[in-house]
Amino acid sequence: CAQCAQPIAPGTAVIALNRHWHADHLRCAACQKPLAHSPPHDRREHQGRVYCSNDYNRMFLPQCQGCRQPILEEDPAISNNPNSATGACGPRSPLFALNAKWHYECFNCQVCHQAFPDKSFYVFENKPHCRYHYHQLNKSLCQRCQQPIEGPCAQVLEGRFHPACFTCDACRVPFRDIYYNIEGTFYCEQHLTLAQNPNRTKADRRRTLF
Ligand SMILES: [Zn+2]
Ligand SMILES: [Zn+2]
Ligand SMILES: [Zn+2]
Ligand SMILES: [Zn+2]
Ligand SMILES: [Zn+2]
Ligand SMILES: [Zn+2]
Repeated sequence: CAQCAQPIAPGTAVIALNRHWHADHLRCAACQKPLAHSPPHDRREHQGRVYCSNDYNRMFLPQCQGCRQPILEEDPAISNNPNSATGACGPRSPLFALNAKWHYECFNCQVCHQAFPDKSFYVFENKPHCRYHYHQLNKSLCQRCQQPIEGPCAQVLEGRFHPACFTCDACRVPFRDIYYNIEGTFYCEQHLTLAQNPNRTKADRRRTLF
């Protein structure tokens, strides 16, 4: 017997991985699941030990960075370019990107799981994201229109805005320097007096930073 090195009664040996076993001794080395009656694809060998396919996949195959499940099919054509997701040779091949391996279908925005049809993506904390969720995590969504800010940005105490979105709430003219915040509503100098009610909280005079 390949496991206990004892003789096996005639006619009772199980043959697996080209060796003979007591039926009860052919077990997964990790979970001890009996493998005597398992189909050949559920008996995997690693360095002389036998494993069920679950444990073999979990312990010895690379893990997908997206779903944390094993990547079953190893493709020698996987690109080793660490910063590119363009190395996938076929439509379903696993890919290597951001220093990790991914199932093809798992390499997507790690928030909304939208795919990257044009192969471009945004990296936040070493994980791929769509444009919107990158900016959400990066806190660079405009506080007024909720769209990403990629060019000039008005950065104020209340958050970030597209310069064109950071306007007086009365006249909609973008602020260039001084603005007033009255309980969350923005006013220019000119409309401040119209808006200011003696009974309301005093306006906060603030300066815009671009
Ligand atoms: Zn044995
Ligand atoms: Zn097992
Ligand atoms: Zn995956
Ligand atoms: Zn997304
Ligand atoms: Zn905006
Ligand atoms: Zn105004």
